[in-house]
Amino acid sequence: MQFTCSIRRASWWGRSRCPSWSWATTSGGGGFRPSSSAFCGTLLDNKLHGVYSCAGCGLPLFASDAKFNSGTGWPSFFQPIAPGNVAETADESHGMTRVEINCARCDGHLGHVFPDGPPPTRQRYCMNSESLTFTPSDQLATLADPAAENA
Ligand SMILES: [Zn+2]
Repeated sequence: MQFTCSIRRASWWGRSRCPSWSWATTSGGGGFRPSSSAFCGTLLDNKLHGVYSCAGCGLPLFASDAKFNSGTGWPSFFQPIAPGNVAETADESHGMTRVEINCARCDGHLGHVFPDGPPPTRQRYCMNSESLTFTPSDQLATLADPAAENA
């Protein structure tokens, strides 16, 4: 699985809270090393209220309100923050048909969507932790995108 975001920038929490965070995971080296802090290492257990944005370009993708525990080990959501922010394409690799989801702005790979999620959408957006950055609701003013104001 290759993460293809070509636009990279450090997020606010990458700079200010997680000195050990590395963007190596987006450069194809597979060098992701979770730090000792769960907040830094994975977004899976993140219970804070806020917005999950594309790690590549910062586009808001999912609100914490739409996050649910799927038990898969991946951050899962039942709907995007805005339908136009997440692009869906059929992925027929690995001998099965899945729906790949990409950032609508930078085309970075986000994960896959499956039709076995909870109500109301019955969709399960299965995300790569490494593809997302999290912004707590009290920090949303730092996001430049107007869409964040709808969270
Ligand atoms: Zn993006």
